[in-house]
Amino acid sequence: MENEKTNRVGSVIFSEYERGEAVKKAAEMSREDILGEIKISSLKGRGGAGFPTSTKWMLTAAAKSDEKYVICNADEGEPGTFKDRVLLLEYPKLVFEGMVVAGKTIGAKVGFLYLRGEYEYMLKSLHDYLSEMKQDQLLGKSICGKEGFDFDIQIRLGSGAYICGEETALIESLEGQRGEARNRPPFPVSTGYKNKPTTVNNVETLAAVSQIVTKGGEWYKTYGTNKSSGSKLFSVSGDCKKPGVYELPWGTKISELLKLVEAEKTKAVQVGGASGVCFPKSQFERTLAYEDISTGGSIIIFNESRDMVKVLKNFMEFFVEESCGQCTPCRIGNVKLLEGVEMIEDKTFTFNYINKLKELGKTMQVSSKCGLGQSSPNSFLSILENFSEEIFNGRNGGKHEK
Ligand code: SF4
Repeated sequence: MENEKTNRVGSVIFSEYERGEAVKKAAEMSREDILGEIKISSLKGRGGAGFPTSTKWMLTAAAKSDEKYVICNADEGEPGTFKDRVLLLEYPKLVFEGMVVAGKTIGAKVGFLYLRGEYEYMLKSLHDYLSEMKQDQLLGKSICGKEGFDFDIQIRLGSGAYICGEETALIESLEGQRGEARNRPPFPVSTGYKNKPTTVNNVETLAAVSQIVTKGGEWYKTYGTNKSSGSKLFSVSGDCKKPGVYELPWGTKISELLKLVEAEKTKAVQVGGASGVCFPKSQFERTLAYEDISTGGSIIIFNESRDMVKVLKNFMEFFVEESCGQCTPCRIGNVKLLEGVEMIEDKTFTFNYINKLKELGKTMQVSSKCGLGQSSPNSFLSILENFSEEIFNGRNGGKHEK
């Protein structure tokens, strides 16, 4: 299969790694030394927000509590993202060992892998892997024979709600409540699972941790750019000959990625999934990096045959479906944006009304309670901005009187 070949491209996360390496190394290190290596690496959270991992761990480690928790956010629900699936299926050693390292560093004895409901089929292999880790003293009590180095991992299954990818909604779900975002502050680092200090890290972040602890923060920093160290996994789908998971150094241009995956006649690239931004050809020389285009890793390619109104409608339908309904900007705003796209489709819009919807989108970005409503207008705004000629050419509008 073509995907199997491309899935393994990469030289940082996908570099040589022997099972148990990170845990054995961490067993010999102090918490401060582990934190030091993570800090040197300048690793940032790979879920999309890009918060420094060492800061998150330092805050959780410093919080005073007799109980702390590590959560691996494997609720991979962003449309177009499937890198975590590959990591969990083919590289569970990196992910689980990253959790053990996190546990030692922050002082937690328990970790949860919160697995996307649709990934239920992985449960058996993941449980089997955890049993093997226990047999090898890489998990459980007295890890690597070190008294007091205790850490266990439980797997919890989500139920298919996109909002549970948001860390506080995930924690609510983990506690047995309806998955809804909490007010922040307080943040999970002080008040997380069961109101105890909790670090929530992305699957890819934890996989990177295992490689960093093993090979060193300086090694990691040799990849990427000055402001974006290391590599990033990109889930590439859409109109190209070689879709798959690509590990590339931060700083790669969109045009370079398109060449690699053999995309032709590309008109648009959606970076960051449905909640991301859609870039036209004129911006393909921009770079994928925190200092330019920051992303969680979903890349969807559209060639010249695609109708961008249909693309946008599909994204907005998704957000109307997935909004948890807790706050008004997101609950009502996404419905209004979708109606606007349908008006464009039916040629029943006015430019005046579309401009009002753009203002609404900007208001949603700053007034919605959580990341879902803050990011859901991104595709609406960027597609209307970057593809206005295609979208409005031949659609005069004028029937809609609002
Ligand atoms: Fe719920 Fe949307 Fe508000 Fe987030 S932004 S709390 S998903 S309604």
